[in-house]
Amino acid sequence: MDMKDIIRIFQYSWSLRRYYISIGFFVVVTALLNLVTPFTLKFIVDGLVALVDGEEISMGYFIVLVSINFGASITTTFISNFSGYLGDMLSVKLYSLLSKKYFEHLLSLPIRYFDDQTIGKITSRLDRGISTISQMMQSFANNFSGLLLTSVFTLVILAYYSWPVALFLIFLFPLYVWITTLSSRAWQKRQITINSDMDVSQGRFLEAISQMRAVKAFSRGLYELNLFSNKRDVIEQNTRDQSVEWHKYDIMRRLSLNVIFLGIYAYIVFQAITKTITLGEMTLLIQLATQVQFPLFAASFLIDNLQKAQAGSRDFFEVIAQKSEVRQSKNVRKLTVTKGAIEYRNVSFAYSTETNKILSDVSFTIKPGEKIALIGQSGEGKTTIANLLLGFYEPTKGSIYIDEQDLSQVTLESLREAIAMVFQDPLLFSGTVKENITYARPDSRREDMIRAANIANADGFISQLPLGYDSEIGERGLKLSGGQKQRIAIARAIFKDAPILILDEATSSLDSKAEIAVQEALEHLMQGRTTMIIAHRFSTIKNVDTIIGIKKGTIAEIGSPSSLAHKKNGLYAELLELQSSALLSKKYGITSQSESQKKV
Ligand code: ADP
Ligand code: MG
Repeated sequence: MDMKDIIRIFQYSWSLRRYYISIGFFVVVTALLNLVTPFTLKFIVDGLVALVDGEEISMGYFIVLVSINFGASITTTFISNFSGYLGDMLSVKLYSLLSKKYFEHLLSLPIRYFDDQTIGKITSRLDRGISTISQMMQSFANNFSGLLLTSVFTLVILAYYSWPVALFLIFLFPLYVWITTLSSRAWQKRQITINSDMDVSQGRFLEAISQMRAVKAFSRGLYELNLFSNKRDVIEQNTRDQSVEWHKYDIMRRLSLNVIFLGIYAYIVFQAITKTITLGEMTLLIQLATQVQFPLFAASFLIDNLQKAQAGSRDFFEVIAQKSEVRQSKNVRKLTVTKGAIEYRNVSFAYSTETNKILSDVSFTIKPGEKIALIGQSGEGKTTIANLLLGFYEPTKGSIYIDEQDLSQVTLESLREAIAMVFQDPLLFSGTVKENITYARPDSRREDMIRAANIANADGFISQLPLGYDSEIGERGLKLSGGQKQRIAIARAIFKDAPILILDEATSSLDSKAEIAVQEALEHLMQGRTTMIIAHRFSTIKNVDTIIGIKKGTIAEIGSPSSLAHKKNGLYAELLELQSSALLSKKYGITSQSESQKKV
C-alpha cells in the first residue's frame, strides 16, 4: 500500500482532528465499558457456585453486580449515540472539505485539461474519491483506538489467567492480518480497472442525458443503452472475479480463525475440567477470547477500507495533482490596460504536440480603440486566435502584447478582467436571465443590467417572458431560441464593460431584423474599445478599420476594407461578392438573406 496517499488523506482532514480524537476517546471508553459484562458475569457465576457450595452470600452482592452492569449499558447507550452524532458530522464535514478542495482545484485548471475530459468522469471521480476516503476515515475513527486498546487489554487479562490462550491469539493476529493484506491487494488491483470502466460509462451516460434531443432525433436511445449495458456487463464480470477472489481469501482466514479458536475453547474447557480455573474464570476467559475476535475483525475491516480508499481516491488525487494555470513566477504582474493596444507577434500554436499547427507565424496589431475583423472559413483558426488572447492556451511560439505587456507575464485574472467576450456558443447557465446578464458582477444595480439588455436588443423579449428578468432559462439556456441566447450573451459582455471586446460570430444566429438592432448597439458599444470581431457575414464587419483574412492558420490578407475589396481571390472580396449575389437573388424574389445587407 502506498503510504503517501494515506498520509495525504490525513493531511487533508487535519482540520477535523478534534472529531477524530473525540470519537477515538469515546471508542476507548466504550471498549472499557465492554469489559464490565464479562467481569460482572464472572463474579456472579463465582458467587452462585459459592452459594451452591453452601457459602453465605448476601442478595446485595448480586444486586450491586447487576446494577454495575446496568449502569455500564446505559452509559454505552448514551456514548454510542453521541459518538454516532460526531461521526455524522465528521462525515459531512469531510465531504464538504474534499469536494470544495476538488472544485477549487478544477476551477484553477487550464482549459486544456477539460478538452480531454467528460463531465461524467470528473463527477464520478469526485463521488468515488470522497465516499471511499470518508468511509476510511470513519472506520479509522471508529476502530483504531478501540482496536489497539481492546486487543492489548484483553490479551493482558487473558495472559494473566491463562498464558497459553494468549499465546494462541498472539499467533493468530499476524496470520489473520497477513491474509487480509493479501486479499485487499488483489481486490484493489481489480478495482482500478472497474473504476476506469465506471468513469467511461458514467461519462457517456451524462453526455446522452445532456444531449437528449440528438439521441431522440437520431433514434439512438437503444444504442446508448447498449453502450452503457455493455460497460456494466464488463464491470459485473470484473466484480464477480473480484468477489470470488476476495471470498476465497476470507474462507482461508476464517478457517484459520475457526481452527485456532477450537484449540482455545478446548483448552479453556480442559482447564475448567481439571479445576485449574474456576467456573467463573472459564466464563470470563471464553467471553474475553470471543471479544478478542472483534479487534481482529476491526483490523481487517480497517485494512480493507484503507485499500478501498486508496483505489477510490487514486483518480481524485490525480486530478488534485494536475498543475493549475495560476502563474507563480516572480515576473508576473497585473495587466494594466491604459489604451488598449493589442499586438500578436509571430504567434504559432498547436493544441497539442501530436496535432498539427493551427496557427503559424501570425502577426498583426490593433491600435487603441480600433476595430478589426477576422474573416475566413470555418476551421481556419479564428476562434483559436481569440482563445490565445484570453490566455486559455499559450502560444507555442511568439508572444501577444496588450499595451506593450507580454501576456505570458501577466496574471490571468487581470487579463480576463480586461476582456469581454461573446463566445461562438452562448455558454449560458441555468438560472434566471438576470443571473446570466450580471454574471460578471452579480451585486450591481438593476438599471445597469437593463441598460445592457437594451443595448443588446434583448429587453423586448425578456420583458415578454413570464417572469421577465427573473425567468428561468433552463440548462445552458435551452428554453430560449438561438437568437435570444445570443442576445443574452451579448448583454452579459456589454454589462461587463471591459476595455477590450471580442465578438466571436456574435450575431450569427440572429434574424435580420434583430441583427440590425444589435449591430447598431454593438457599434455604439465598440466606440472607444479595442474590438476583435470574428464574422462570416458582411453586415457585421462593414464598419471595421482593418480586415484580417485567415487561411490555414496564417494571415492571407490584411488591410482596410476598401483596399481589400477588389483583391483577386481575396477572402474579403469573396464575402462582398456573396453579398451582392444575395442581393440579386433577393431582387428576383428568392428568399432573402438579411435586411441589413440591403442597406449596404
Ligand atoms: P474557426 O474559429 O476559424 O472556425 P477554430 O479556431 O475554432 O476555427 O479551429 C481551428 C482548428 O483548431 C480546427 O481545425 C479545429 O479542429 C482545431 N481545434 C479547435 N479547438 C480545439 C481543441 N480544443 N483541441 C484541439 N483542436 C482544436
Ligand atoms: Mg470559430
